[in-house]
Amino acid sequence: MKELELMHVYKDYKLAGKEKYTALSDINVSFEKGELVSIIGESGSGKSTLMNLIGGLDSDYQGIINIGGKDLKNFKDKQLDDYRKKKIGFVFQSFNLIPHLSVLDNVTIPLTLSNIKESEKNEKAIKILTQLGLKEHIKKKPTQLSGGQKQRVAIARALINDPDIILADEPTGALDSSTTIQILDILKDIADDGKLVIMVTHSEKVAKISSRIVEISDGKIIRDEKNKNYTKNNDKHLLDTNNMIENKDKKEGHLSFISALKLSFHNMWASKTKNFLMALGVSISLIAMIIMLSFGSGLTSYISTLAEDYSNPYYVTISKSGKDKDGNPIEENQDPASMFIPKMFEENEINEIITDLNNYLETQNNDFRITTEGDNQNITYGFSMMTMTSGTISYDPQTGNPEDIKTSSIMYTYTTPPYYDDHNLITETGHMSGENEIMLSSAILKLLDIEDPEEIIGKQVTLNINLTVSNTQIIINKDVTISAIVDVSAFSSMMVMYVDYDFLNNCVKEAQQNASLEPTGLNPSLLFIHTDSEETTDLLNYYIENNRKDLSGSIEEELSSMFSEMMSTFSIALAIISGISLIVALIMITVVLYMSVSERTREIGVLKSIGARKKDIKLIFSTESLLIGILSGITGIIFSAIIGGILALIFNSLLGFAPINMLWYYFVGALFISIIISVLAGLYPSSKAAKLDPVESLRHE
Ligand code: ADP
Ligand code: MG
Repeated sequence: MKELELMHVYKDYKLAGKEKYTALSDINVSFEKGELVSIIGESGSGKSTLMNLIGGLDSDYQGIINIGGKDLKNFKDKQLDDYRKKKIGFVFQSFNLIPHLSVLDNVTIPLTLSNIKESEKNEKAIKILTQLGLKEHIKKKPTQLSGGQKQRVAIARALINDPDIILADEPTGALDSSTTIQILDILKDIADDGKLVIMVTHSEKVAKISSRIVEISDGKIIRDEKNKNYTKNNDKHLLDTNNMIENKDKKEGHLSFISALKLSFHNMWASKTKNFLMALGVSISLIAMIIMLSFGSGLTSYISTLAEDYSNPYYVTISKSGKDKDGNPIEENQDPASMFIPKMFEENEINEIITDLNNYLETQNNDFRITTEGDNQNITYGFSMMTMTSGTISYDPQTGNPEDIKTSSIMYTYTTPPYYDDHNLITETGHMSGENEIMLSSAILKLLDIEDPEEIIGKQVTLNINLTVSNTQIIINKDVTISAIVDVSAFSSMMVMYVDYDFLNNCVKEAQQNASLEPTGLNPSLLFIHTDSEETTDLLNYYIENNRKDLSGSIEEELSSMFSEMMSTFSIALAIISGISLIVALIMITVVLYMSVSERTREIGVLKSIGARKKDIKLIFSTESLLIGILSGITGIIFSAIIGGILALIFNSLLGFAPINMLWYYFVGALFISIIISVLAGLYPSSKAAKLDPVESLRHE
C-alpha cells in the first residue's frame, strides 16, 4: 500500500470578486515510506500549496489525497487535528520556533498538546535533542541559537511524536552551505529510518542527494524521477527514531489547563513590562473603586457613631424645622444660615404639640401619654448646641501668679441631652452637670493648658458669655464648677460648654434681672420626650416625619440624615465612575489581547500545524486573559492597601480620625471583578485566534 497518494488534485485560490487562481492542477503522485523526496520548481509554482494540502492545513481542494489508504477529505476536524499532531511533522524555512519558550519547551510542545507527563516528555525531547547535538542548548531561547541549530530544534519538534511523514518546506533555504549539508544528512537519516520525507527546495544541488525528484511548474508535475545513485545508509545512524514513542496508539489527552497556564505565563513573562503597565492601568480603576468604597463606609460608620451620640431609642427629640405644617419654608427664614439659629418654642406651641402627639397615640391604641405633670413628667427641654456663643472661660490654678490664669473662648453652648450619661464622660470621677456646674469638651482643656482631665474636675472657673435672647444681648458672668469632661466624638474638637437646661434658664433670668429686663428666661429650642418603649419612639418619629413638617428631630439628627443622603448620592456617583473605568479597563485588555493575537499569528499557525485544536488555542489565550485579571487584581489590591494606609495616616494626623474603612471583601470583590472583566475581554480575541486559518497564519510576516 502507498503511504501517500494524490489523485487528480486541484487547488484554486479565490481572488477578489468571482476570480480564482489555479495553483495546482491535476496532480497525480504517490510516495512510499523511506523515500527522501525533493520537490523543486520556480517560486510560485505551487510547492508550498502542495505541502499544505498534504499536511492537512488546507482542506479546500478537489481530488483525492489518500493517507495510508484513508481519504483525507473524509476526516473530521478532530481526526485532522490528530493527523497533524501524530502523523505529520512540519519543518519550515523560517524555523517557526516559539520565541518565548526554551529549546526544550519548543520541542515538547506537541506532547504538551497531548497532555503527556512532564518527566516523560522531557525525557523524550532530551533524547532527540542529544542525538541532534543540542544537549547543551536545551535551556536556551531560540534567539540564542544559530540558524542550523534552530533548524535542528525544529526537526526535533517535528520528530517528537514519531510521525510517519516529515514535510519540510525549504528547510535549508535560510542556511549556509555547510549547515545545509548537516540538515540534509539528518533528513536523509530520518528517511533511511523508514519515514517518508518530502522536502521543498530551489536548489538542484540539494535535490541531488535525495532519492527522488519531483518538479512542479505552474501547478503541474513536469518531472518525477528516481535517483539511481541514492544509497541507503543502513548502519551508522545519527538518529534513532525507532521506539521513540512507546504506546503510540494509547489514548491521549489534550492541552491541560495547567499547561495552558504555563504557556501563557511564559508568553506574558516575555513581555512583562507591557503586561505590568497594562495591569497597572486596569488596577487604577480597582484602586479608585476600593478607596471610594472604603471612604464611603468609613464616612457612613463615622456618621452613624455621631448619630448614636445624639439619639437614644427611648427618646424622641423635637426641634422646629423652619417650615410650616405643609413643608413650605417660612418666609423670614430664607437665609440658609438660619438653620443654625435655634428656633425657640413658645409655651402654647409646646402644649399644642403635646396634645397633637397624644391624640395620635390614642388613635394608634398606644397607652403612652406625654405629660408635664410632677413626678410623671416625661418631657424635658433643651437648648441647641448650634447657638453661637461669644464668651470665655478662665481658670485660675491659684498659684498666686496672674500669668498662670488661663482663658479659653467658648463657641457653643449646649444643654446636655437627658440621655447623656457616664459613657459620654472622659473622666472617671466626673458627673453630669447640675446647678452651678458645667462640663467642657476636651478641646477647651487644651486651650486651658490642662493635660490630665482629672486635674480640673471640681475646680472653679469663671464664665463670661453673651447670649442673644429675644433679640437682646444678655451677659452671664458667673463662677461655676467643672463637673466633668464630655467625650462626644463629633464635638471633641469644638469648643463646647455643656450645661443643664434649668441652670442655664436660671442664669438667663438672673442676667435679665440684673439688666432690668423682664425675666422671661430662655425658651427651649429642643423638646425631649422620654418614651416607654422603642415602639412608641418609632411611632412618634413616624408621625412627626409624615404629618408635622413644621417639626424635625434635633438639628444634629437632621445633619446626619443629610449626610446619609449625600452618601447615597456619593454611592451612585461611585457606581457610575467605577462602571466607566471598568469599561475602559475592559476595552484596554481587549485591545492588548487583540494585539497579542496578531503579534502571535505565526505562532498560532505553528501550533495548528503541530495539531493544536481550536479549543487549545482558545484555552491558551483565555488563560492569558485570566492571568491578566489576576495580575491586575493583585496589583490593584496592593496599591489600594498602600494608598488607603497612607490616607488613613494623613487623616489621623489632621482630624484625629480616619474615615476610611477597608473591608476585606472590597479586596476580594476587586480581584473577582478584575478576573471577570479580563476573562470577558479575552473572549473575542481568543475566539478570533482560534478561528485563524493555519495556512494564512504561517504566511503571516
Ligand atoms: P511556491 O511555494 O512554489 O513558491 P505557493 O504554493 O506558495 O508557491 O504559491 C503558488 C501560487 O499560488 C502562487 O502564484 C501564489 O501567488 C498563489 N497563492 C498562494 N497562496 C495564495 C492565496 N492565499 N491566495 C491567492 N493566491 C495564492
Ligand atoms: Mg513556497
